[in-house]
Amino acid sequence: MTIRESIAAKTIGERVWFYSNYHCNLACSYCLTSSSRGSPERALAAEVMLALVDEAAALGFRSVGITGGEPFLRADMPDIVATVARRLPVVVLTNGTMFTARFVARLEPLAKLPAALQVSLDSADAAANDALRGRGTHARVLAGICTLRAAGIHVRIGSTLDDGVADMLEPLCELHRALGIPDADHVVRPIVRRGRAADHALGIAARLEDVPAELTLTADGAFWSPASPTVRNGRLDIGELLTRTIAPLRIPADAMLRYASSGGMPQMTGLVA
Ligand code: SF4
Repeated sequence: MTIRESIAAKTIGERVWFYSNYHCNLACSYCLTSSSRGSPERALAAEVMLALVDEAAALGFRSVGITGGEPFLRADMPDIVATVARRLPVVVLTNGTMFTARFVARLEPLAKLPAALQVSLDSADAAANDALRGRGTHARVLAGICTLRAAGIHVRIGSTLDDGVADMLEPLCELHRALGIPDADHVVRPIVRRGRAADHALGIAARLEDVPAELTLTADGAFWSPASPTVRNGRLDIGELLTRTIAPLRIPADAMLRYASSGGMPQMTGLVA
């Protein structure tokens, strides 16, 4: 099977993910990558990302995701996102704390492109949200969402919820609707007990079959899923590493196809510094 056929058959996901960098201005208690200001950047160069997006489109991938760390800590990220969106639809996962009017002015080209920013917001209650993500985060995120929407940029909300907090969902939905964001643009996912979430015994343990088969590219190699290249105590988990090589994309894509067509990859155990 080709990549195009496997995507059509839903054997693998249509989106290819990039970990653009691993550092972050926050240090959330459930962060899969244990990111913080002091984390090594481990950034993917812009030209590498853009060449891989071209190859992804040629192979039949239909969309791109960019995550981290906080992608918008990179000065070149507004230009990267706009360039990617001219090739394939793109969603960028962001903590939403950096969207001052001045910063958003650099993002204005995205208003006319197939680009969405998925902003993290975990509760309608500021104290509950900030207990997980850091003091003052809730207010900055709400202000950032309003600034982005005023600029005509497509905003989605991503909520990461622990078990037993289903009662937080309805007020959160009322809030995003009040902000003008429809239900179709609200993504809810569980905390996965990897990275820093494991340190705090938060979330659910995830097996390989529980995480999406979506080719994920990092400075350290290609992984099975965006939930795979996690970091704990400064060490990268390579249990779901497909290949160390990310370019040409054909190499990790073929490895993914082989595993997907044989029912999944053998999960190794391993952490590397
Ligand atoms: S969860 Fe996201 S916003 Fe929070 S520390 Fe990790 S990368 Fe940063």
